[in-house]
Parts: sequence; structure tokens; C-alpha cells
Amino acid sequence: MNYSYWETEHLLAEIDYLIVGMGLVGLQTAINLKEKEPNAHVVVIDRHSWGLGASTRNAGFGCFASIGEILDDLQNDTAENVYATIRKRYRGLQKLLGKFNDNAIGYIEKGSCEIFTKLNRDELSMGIDSLQGINTILDKELGLERVFTYKSTNPLPNVTGTIHNAYEGQLNTGKLYDTIYSFAQELGIKLYGGLDVKYWNKGNKIEVQTTDNLIIKCSNLILCTNAFTSQLLEEDITPCRGQVVVSERVDNLPCEGMYMFDKGYYYWRDIDDRILLGGARNIDVEGETSYTMDTNETIVTELKRFMNEQIFGREVVIEHQWSGVMGIGKGQSKTPIVKKVEPNIYLAARLGGMGVALSANVAEEIVQLIASE
Ligand SMILES: Cc1cc2nc3c(=O)[nH]c(=O)nc-3n(C[C@H](O)[C@H](O)[C@H](O)COP(=O)(O)OP(=O)(O)OC[C@H]3O[C@@H](n4cnc5c(N)ncnc54)[C@H](O)[C@@H]3O)c2cc1C
Repeated sequence: MNYSYWETEHLLAEIDYLIVGMGLVGLQTAINLKEKEPNAHVVVIDRHSWGLGASTRNAGFGCFASIGEILDDLQNDTAENVYATIRKRYRGLQKLLGKFNDNAIGYIEKGSCEIFTKLNRDELSMGIDSLQGINTILDKELGLERVFTYKSTNPLPNVTGTIHNAYEGQLNTGKLYDTIYSFAQELGIKLYGGLDVKYWNKGNKIEVQTTDNLIIKCSNLILCTNAFTSQLLEEDITPCRGQVVVSERVDNLPCEGMYMFDKGYYYWRDIDDRILLGGARNIDVEGETSYTMDTNETIVTELKRFMNEQIFGREVVIEHQWSGVMGIGKGQSKTPIVKKVEPNIYLAARLGGMGVALSANVAEEIVQLIASE
């Protein structure tokens, strides 16, 4: 197929900012650019019909920190990096909530709860020992009093103690994406799916070549390609797949709000009288280092076991299951990359498991970088 004169000369002409990746980062980057420069021609493209990496496939945790994950991250990264990422997530969440109506994005602040069982009793002790110190740091970093509190009782089976974060809330992932997508359209940003970028050449303009041989010319190219960035550039970004299952509708759910277990490797929440459960990627890290949105049977079997034994205490039917792919760095680094790759070409990527909140912050940072050039 050849692209028509109209397609190349009208739909894709005179692009000031071409953003690759229609996930939360790409869409919000486009929105920030258009708000700053209302006359700019801003186009977002994606290889899929919509952002189909992580942004429409996540669990909708509007989260920034859990004790178990902080203690784990401190083993792999500097304290400065760990708390800087938490600060960015928290600020990002505030930006999302400041810009979009809670109802429109399905935000409900029910708080979150990390559970501990006899399987991770030591982690509970470490969590309790570190709680006050971490609260003091977070008070200074975020201006929030007593982020974490300990409780000794919980109605879920096998629980020996819990640590709560009162400042987190759950989002409806579908509503959030839809709201941001529609907001971008209303601003006049063009959103085109089905365009898979292969490479680009630089001359007078940047010429982006797609897999079906379309050439798109633009003045600035911004890659918001998260996990898939290493298919285009040499960057320290590894794909990291996650599996999700959703139960049947149940009267009187065993828990409401957001829950975590085992340093956040297991996470679940209520949605529409169901429980959505994701994670367990630590039982097959190699298998989940993948760009494909396949089912990992070993992990899904484990998630079903966990749903029955740890959440419901009885067997429930699983009615939905899917996977999504996020991006992490070597040594499990969760710090996003926001940088200029070369003149007029930029990158905003490497968002891991708490990337929803972070996305608003990353989108702001990349636009500030572009404006500072
Ligand atoms: C299962 C799962 C559960 C999660 N749960 C949560 C959660 O509860 N809370 C939370 O905060 N975070 C969660 N996350 C993480 C969060 O969803 C991501 O960090 C965030 O959505 C990343 O957004 P993004 O825009 O950077 O990437 P993406 O949404 O992946 O968007 C990148 C886009 O780039 C496109 N693309 C890539 N390469 C090309 C190319 N060459 N040409 C054209 N298009 C291209 C892809 O198709 C994709 O649509 C979860 C992630 C997963 C996978």
C-alpha cells in the first residue's frame, strides 16, 4: 500500500512535536506541550490502536510507597534515589488529581495495606523497626505526617500484622486513560494508532520511518516508548511483564482498598465487587522478561492459588486475565530516564511498577527539558 498525498501532506504535515508512544507518558507529554504552545502541531503515534504497553493494563494503584518495597529498594539503590523516586511519584499523583476530576478518573482514597504472614515474619519485624525512621524522612520529603501505621489485626486469612499507608488511593485505569486521551483530543492533539516506528534519519527535518515504509517528518521527536525503547535505542531498559487476574463478582468482598504482600510482588484491590490481583513475577523473572503480552501459566496458576487461599479463603472463579509490559533498569532500577538523546530527539521512559503516579511528573520533566533547550 502507498500512503496518499492527503495522508502524507495533510494528516502528517508540518509536525512540530512527534511523540512515539500513546501511553500515559506520551499523552501527558503531548498535553503539556500543547498547553505551553497552543499553535504547535502535536501528534502522538503508537504501533497499536491505543497505548498498549502498560497504561491500559495496570492495576490502577495510585501509589507512591510501601514499607516492604522501600526496604527492598534500599538494598538495590541509594537512599537518595529511592526517596527521590517516591517524591516524584507523590508529586505526580498530586498533579494527576489536580488536573483531572476524581470522578472522571475513578479515584477513591481508601488507603493501602501491606500484609505480613508467617512466611515473611522477619520482614514485618524489620518494617516495624524502620517505620518511625521512614515516617520521619517522608514527613520531611512529602510534608505528610505518619505515612505508615502498624496494625496487629486483619480479617484476611493467615495475617500476622499489617502496615498501612493512609495517603494512597485507587484509580479506574480505563477511566483514567480515557479521560487523558479525550483531554488530548480536545486540545487538538492528533492521535494515530497503527504506526510502528522502525528508525529515523536526521537531515533538515527528522524523518521517521515506520515498518510499513511511511516516512513522517517532524521538527522534534520524543520517544515515550517505555519498555520497548531498547528496540530503538541502546538504553538500560529491560522489559518486565506482569500478569493480572480478576475474580467473579462476589457479595461482601473479604477486603476493600489496595493490598500488597511480599515487598509488593503480590498486589490486589477491589473493583466493581471483584478482586483484581497481579504480580508473582518473582517466581519466573526470566519468563517475564518479555515484550510479548502472553500468559505465563506458572504465574497465573500461582495467582489463582493466592486468590483462593490468601484473599478469599475459598475457591472463586477467575473471569478476566491479561498481561502488560513495563520497563526497568539493571539492578531493578526504578528511576525513570528523562533526557536529550541528540539535538531535537528526546526520551522519557523506564517506568516500572508504580508508573501511573510517576507518569505526570515524567511528562512535566521532559517538557521542561525541551523548553530549556
Ligand atoms: C500488569 C501491570 C500492572 C501495573 N500496575 C500498576 C499500578 O497499579 N500502579 C502504578 O502506578 N503502575 C502500575 N503499573 C506500571 C504503569 O502501568 C506503567 O509504569 C506506566 O503505564 C508506563 O506508562 P508509559 O506511557 O511510560 O508506557 P506504556 O503505557 O507502555 O506506553 C508505551 C507505548 O509505546 C508504544 N511503542 C513502543 N515502541 C514503539 C514503536 N517503535 N513504535 C510505535 N509505538 C511504540 C507501545 O505500543 C506503548 O503503547 C503496572 C504495569 C503493569 C504491566
